[in-house]
Amino acid sequence: MDPHDPPGGPGAPEPHPVSPMEQALHAARALVLADLVAREVAEADVVSMVEESVTHRRWWVEQWPDGADFLAGLVAQDVQDALLERHGRWPLCPVCGTGDPHALEVEPELGPDPHWVCHKAGVKVAAVGRLGGAVPS
Ligand SMILES: [Zn+2]
Repeated sequence: MDPHDPPGGPGAPEPHPVSPMEQALHAARALVLADLVAREVAEADVVSMVEESVTHRRWWVEQWPDGADFLAGLVAQDVQDALLERHGRWPLCPVCGTGDPHALEVEPELGPDPHWVCHKAGVKVAAVGRLGGAVPS
């Protein structure tokens, strides 16, 4: 843990131990982990990819607090990119039974209420965090 004391002095004790920003980060982390578990790739190095993304996005949302609602979609895309480099496409589309295997994409890329979408079939498959519940596999 980094104490991160500002030079101006400690000030009053913080009444909220967990800031809304931290809550949003925590929720984004939980949603993406749920999708990783649902698609059976929640290995140790994958979890560390989520942590890397959350660390990066914590910095990001501190610069732009209005983006807190976008964190789940952004973390999902970060992890998707990291997985593509190290493991391959994720999450594979469960809708299209034929043709080349392809990954779902997050929509909106930068917005609230992100969903996994198959652009080939043109369908919303599930909300980010709900891949396990919405997709019979
Ligand atoms: Zn598809």
